Amino acid sequence: MEEKSTNKPVVLVVDDIPSNVKILAEALRYEYLIKVAISGSEALVAAQTQPQPDLILLDVMMPEMDGYEVLRCLKENPATSRIPVIFVTAKATESDEEVGFNLGVVDYITKPISIAITKARVRSHIALKLQADSLQELSLIDPLTKIPNRRCLDENLQKEWKRAHRDGMALSLLMIDIDHFKDYNDHYGHRAGDECLCRVAEALKKGVSRPGDLVARYGGEEFAVILPATDSLPAVQIADHLRRLILDLNLPHAVSSTCSRVSVSIGCATSHCKLKKASPMDLLQQADTMLYQSKSLGRNCVSSI
Ligand code: GH3
Ligand code: MG
Ligand code: MG
Repeated sequence: MEEKSTNKPVVLVVDDIPSNVKILAEALRYEYLIKVAISGSEALVAAQTQPQPDLILLDVMMPEMDGYEVLRCLKENPATSRIPVIFVTAKATESDEEVGFNLGVVDYITKPISIAITKARVRSHIALKLQADSLQELSLIDPLTKIPNRRCLDENLQKEWKRAHRDGMALSLLMIDIDHFKDYNDHYGHRAGDECLCRVAEALKKGVSRPGDLVARYGGEEFAVILPATDSLPAVQIADHLRRLILDLNLPHAVSSTCSRVSVSIGCATSHCKLKKASPMDLLQQADTMLYQSKSLGRNCVSSI
């Protein structure tokens, strides 16, 4: 995520009537960086562009695209689904509010607005949002694929490295990269790309069987697998099994020059307890070099050092 150019939390105010926008913006501008939009479609663009809002105050009644529809679009898009939304509305019956809450709105402010109440509600929802952000940063799970993230991988690799040296066991690491994934995104769209990442993550997770094995999202379209107590030959066999599992997902990739289905390239490296000088970083480096070799050998294959 890009850094915000200001330390102030960012609030997006959306209302088709400019004077309403002005009242809210004036009330909040000392504490927050204010972005404004006067239509639903403008709001969707503003929600995705940097600096992204930490909170959206969304008018319900707007011509063309109303607040409900804007909210639905925000929730459907992974890039905006975590942004809390407060509905600003003139009349909210109990059933209106129920619909809003079911769609994921966090609160309601009724018109004519009270500045004091608005400020208080905004402050508490911003506090919750910032708290959720910092928890996510500390988290060990990748929010998109719901498998362990790189931070978890690094911690686990350190632990397994020490254990392998202590017990005199081999330790293997696989680096897995989806082939021609940029083209996949360009052809099928980013949302389909995200879906593909989730399917690949799920298949990899199911494809390893021992309790100590760990599949993580290393970053972007790269995954890593830690295989404790596994020598290089079985590691290559597991890698090839995973490679086939991904092909067996049968996810069409019409613009891949390698294969008509989504495929992966894999690099394997194994550390033996004898080589005490090496470090977990060296193991990662070797697996990465082997991945690069698989790419240059034509992709959809496994290479091992
Ligand atoms: P190669 O076969 O050599 O690996 O080519 P490639 O296109 O897969 O590799 P490259 O590194 O050029 O492109 C990686 C692409 O992965 C670019 C980026 O848009 C995409 N990507 C990375 N993270 C995500 C993500 O979270 N979601 C989606 N949809 N795409 C992502
Ligand atoms: Mg790739
Ligand atoms: Mg890559």
